[in-house]
Amino acid sequence: MAEMTAPTTAHLEPYPASRTKALESLLVEKGLLTTDHIDAIVRRFEQDIGPLKGAKVVARAWVDSDFRARLLADGASAIMELGLERGAPLVVLENMPGVHNVVVCTLCSCYPWSVLGLPPTWYKSPAYRSRVVIEPRAVLREFGLTLPETTEIRVWDSSSDLRYMVLPERPAGTEAMTEADLATLVTRDAMIGVAIAQAPASGAVAGTD
Ligand code: FE
Repeated sequence: MAEMTAPTTAHLEPYPASRTKALESLLVEKGLLTTDHIDAIVRRFEQDIGPLKGAKVVARAWVDSDFRARLLADGASAIMELGLERGAPLVVLENMPGVHNVVVCTLCSCYPWSVLGLPPTWYKSPAYRSRVVIEPRAVLREFGLTLPETTEIRVWDSSSDLRYMVLPERPAGTEAMTEADLATLVTRDAMIGVAIAQAPASGAVAGTD
């Protein structure tokens, strides 16, 4: 009987990652795939199926309250109205004054890829996954987001059958902006909840002061 590899306490690499790498080298070796082809697929997820899709969803929700209601009721169905893939069940968490939502996957790296593409490296890091649950306020501060002490922070743990996306608050002073321009204010980090959407610094929006 072949010697079995003893389980180790250190999780050097998740099993699906090693398995994927092994499959990839095998397929490339057999000439069934090229590395260029694989790179193109990865690029597609990073750029085309990236956070831009989620940003469009958020902008639509800001300008269309009926859509926002449908999005909050059933995210996976609502995003199909914008031509997006249904993906896993999607719960959209609405930030509001006094309530800020943050998304994590404490177990691994479950992520709403249908709206945000591939997760950033930090999202998969053990430090983020463990600390954001215990001390969300401190973690957000490290991301440059200092919330008022009175703001309640809700941390949501994703799983393979339930994904979360944050619907950031529409920044003040953006009343005159078009839906397309509003989408440019919505970052990936704001939809994970480690940032907020911010109005353009100056010039682009008619000043109110
Ligand atoms: Fe996960």
